[in-house]
Amino acid sequence: ARAAASSAPLTPGALADGTAVPLLANLGKPGGAAEAVELGAEGVGLFRTEFLFLSSTQAPTVDEQTAAYTELLQAFPGKKVVVRALDAGADKPLAFLNDAHEDNPALGLRGLRALRASEDILREQLTALANADKATDADLWVMAPMVATVEETEYFVSIAREYEIKIAGVMVEVPSAALLADRVLAIADFASIGTNDLTQYTMAADRLLGSVASFQDPWHPAVLRLIKATADGGKANGKPVGICGEAAADPLLAVVLVGMGATTLSMAPTALADVRASLLTHTLADAQRIAAAALAADDAASARSAAQAAAENAA
Ligand code: PEP
Ligand code: MG
Repeated sequence: ARAAASSAPLTPGALADGTAVPLLANLGKPGGAAEAVELGAEGVGLFRTEFLFLSSTQAPTVDEQTAAYTELLQAFPGKKVVVRALDAGADKPLAFLNDAHEDNPALGLRGLRALRASEDILREQLTALANADKATDADLWVMAPMVATVEETEYFVSIAREYEIKIAGVMVEVPSAALLADRVLAIADFASIGTNDLTQYTMAADRLLGSVASFQDPWHPAVLRLIKATADGGKANGKPVGICGEAAADPLLAVVLVGMGATTLSMAPTALADVRASLLTHTLADAQRIAAAALAADDAASARSAAQAAAENAA
């Protein structure tokens, strides 16, 4: 399948009926941009900024950050680039931010919570992003990680606006935010669903713990229902809802996600070819039927096989 998929022309992501589904890249360093473009990324759906912070015992300077974000944005002229504010804590601990011991760091002061507790770091990051935005002509979107409440959404959107960030959104990776998506998306300009953490928190199963790995499956209908609720919240407010967790890299699950209303898919660049090929084999009506079959299942394995069966019928 890989050989056939990778020889397909690098047309923009679309379903068989022409419905556009922009295919974006998840990147962790500006240096990955060239390869992503070569593999057909239409922009960046998740730029993880942690790399700038993890290698150091203190926060990078505004100048260092400006240089890194400028390098990234320069690689995508006229294209959308979604940058995530620093997501520290839990699986991404930072000595200078997450200093207090926590028994349950995944449930602790992480993501946007940690940034609020050290707001100067957030302000410096937004300053650097605004600098890079002015110096380049990419379409910069900025989002906050680990948002759980409407109030956090208001906080992030309003602080981003202080720095003239034109498009400010949130990651939906905590079930509370998915359940409140209609309210969250009344305020945020967009949402991007992080299926890795959304699955971890929905299933109460540590994403790094092998003994509970069977629970860490984004095909679980409980996770799918939350994704659907988030997409519905976007639709109700006329706001885009993308997917940037690993789920988007699964060619069949990608069809389900689009069938539930996801407007863009972002993934590791090496996954783009197979997802592009898979989307091209189904219309939007097919994708909606395939999604409905998965949503009606009781568990992850039956959701996957129900979607598979529906996809075979549709094709
Ligand atoms: C996610 O949680 O799905 C996500 C995209 O963010 P990360 O994997 O960096 O936590
Ligand atoms: Mg996450």
